[in-house]
Amino acid sequence: MVPLRTGDVGEPEWSPGHPSLSHGERRFRRRIRVTEISVRFWGVRGSVPCPGRETVRYGGNTACVEVRCGDRLVIFDAGTGLRALGHALAAGPPGLAADIFISHCHIDHIGGLPFFEPCYMPANQIRIWAGSLLSEQRLADVARILMSAPLFPSGEGVFKAKITFCDFQSGDVLKPYPDLTLRTVPLAHPGGATGYRLEYRSRSVAYVTDTEHSPGRLDPAVLALAEAADLLIYDCNYTDEEFAGHVGRGHSTWQEGVRIAEAARAQRLAIFHHDPNHDDEFLDGVKARATQCHPGAIVAAEGLIVSL
Ligand SMILES: [Zn+2]
Ligand SMILES: [Zn+2]
Repeated sequence: MVPLRTGDVGEPEWSPGHPSLSHGERRFRRRIRVTEISVRFWGVRGSVPCPGRETVRYGGNTACVEVRCGDRLVIFDAGTGLRALGHALAAGPPGLAADIFISHCHIDHIGGLPFFEPCYMPANQIRIWAGSLLSEQRLADVARILMSAPLFPSGEGVFKAKITFCDFQSGDVLKPYPDLTLRTVPLAHPGGATGYRLEYRSRSVAYVTDTEHSPGRLDPAVLALAEAADLLIYDCNYTDEEFAGHVGRGHSTWQEGVRIAEAARAQRLAIFHHDPNHDDEFLDGVKARATQCHPGAIVAAEGLIVSL
């Protein structure tokens, strides 16, 4: 296991000699070449962006996680963190291929999509996947609504890239490429959400947000996704102490994340989907408590890179 590293927020590196790349990005790219999977957090908040002095260290953008599997680019969720990722990607060569897997279509998970620069570049191919809509809606309809008046000044027809909307049913097994598998399950969240387990070569990452647990009973579907995962990214919006006052909101706690990670023997737990009311100081406290309970626990922060 490669140690964790924080910092180096900036433009991803696209080739070792790319002139516009910062020193930190060249290091990031080198790291991708020597590890199976590299995970980078671009947005770690739930509900609503919360930039400001009190959140500057962990970040104020909503859910967006970049996962590099060799040359494959997978993105979990299109929250406001997607804007900065898109800006970084746009600095690279044209002809980008990316797959964006949406947990569900609440605004904190899709609000960055209209601001994703690669969507406006003709040579790019982007597939956007969602498993929580079928039977009632299609993902393409949601994108159209998101980018129509009076919510947005132009329709999603302004996208110049080849965009493919891929609806599936939570529970399906997805094979976007022969060497990449995503197992999916439905999560307990108002309106539904999809949890993912990405498998590439010998590594696995479980992405499980937004979900509400039942106290005293570990969710078997979540356990299955997290089973021996190298990294479990989990909805830790609340603490156990706060949870009682928020039943029915569709979120879980960092303590439940620890219980799931231990029961499933996940190597690492990334505490994710932070409540916008939890400032840096509060999250420092969560970090101290969580790492005492579970040495593999980390608190997701914008710019954090985890190499697996
Ligand atoms: Zn959310
Ligand atoms: Zn939600």
